[in-house]
Amino acid sequence: MKRVLVAGGAGFIGSHLCDAIINNGDQVVCLDNLITGSKDNIVHLLDNPRFDYIEFDITNVNILKLIKDKYDKIDEIYDLASPASPVDYILYPIETLTVGSFGAKNLLDLALHYGSRILMASTSEVYGDPLEHPQQEEYWGNVNPIGIRSCYDESKRFMEAITAAYIRKYGLNAKIARIFNTYGPRMRLNDGRVVPNFISQALNNQDITVYGDGSQTRSFCYVSDLVNGLILLMASGLNTPVNLGNPDERSVMDFAKDVVGMLPTKSKIITTALPKDDPQRRKPDITKAKKHLSWSPTIGFKEGMQLTIEYFKKRLR
Ligand code: UDP
Repeated sequence: MKRVLVAGGAGFIGSHLCDAIINNGDQVVCLDNLITGSKDNIVHLLDNPRFDYIEFDITNVNILKLIKDKYDKIDEIYDLASPASPVDYILYPIETLTVGSFGAKNLLDLALHYGSRILMASTSEVYGDPLEHPQQEEYWGNVNPIGIRSCYDESKRFMEAITAAYIRKYGLNAKIARIFNTYGPRMRLNDGRVVPNFISQALNNQDITVYGDGSQTRSFCYVSDLVNGLILLMASGLNTPVNLGNPDERSVMDFAKDVVGMLPTKSKIITTALPKDDPQRRKPDITKAKKHLSWSPTIGFKEGMQLTIEYFKKRLR
């Protein structure tokens, strides 16, 4: 049985990953400081003897002693701890910067101590407002270093840089996943991202708020597909960044129309101001993941959206 530490394990993606590890018969040590995660996401796991939950901030260096004193071995570490919504970057800019830097370093040091594999959750945001399309891993990106999203983009770029340094200097067995837009149950209703916003607006018969003219594009990956990709990447021999996302690209306006078409709603689509530095186009090139992990998404847009809508309906009741 493996013991797997999941930082950010009470978050949206982290909690689905905890489920997958537990379902696989392994043990989970779930860390979260709950600034954007929620105990609701893991409540069904709390009584499981193979699941430990520790409420702690990985930016605090005492995390090293706490874990080392408690566990003689950790086989794998996933670092999924970070705010991940543009609305959260504005609320928690310092926390976002420190978790991607100090937090990431603490976990890398833990991986060194245990000799464990470690997977760092990076992001498509390292490409910024990309000048290449679709985005391949070789592209270095177009990021505003002092813009309103920079706390996230630059902390994840730092995370990649320090991970690459630990790989070079110590031979650490580390992985870097560049995660593109992911959606599904357990997204926070009020996290401000487009999927929860449009679904909750449609369910409440409120205006659907398309930012800008809605011509900007995103490519949405269902969360179970993403989690499978993370697990395959962890098991792989790859030590360079890998895009994980669904290349099914659509404009935000088309996405708004799709949501209206999927629900009985009186909502109207309206356009409002486009936030600064909002990337104009985003679509992963997943050739590398297909080739080296034999991974590609399996859940189509309609199926994934139906599952997500069901979750939001229950939460709004
Ligand atoms: N967006 C929108 N209306 C909303 C929320 C978001 O039009 O109520 C747009 C946003 O401007 C961006 C896209 O949807 O172009 C995706 O935004 P999200 O916050 O989900 O994630 P991002 O990919 O920008 O990190």
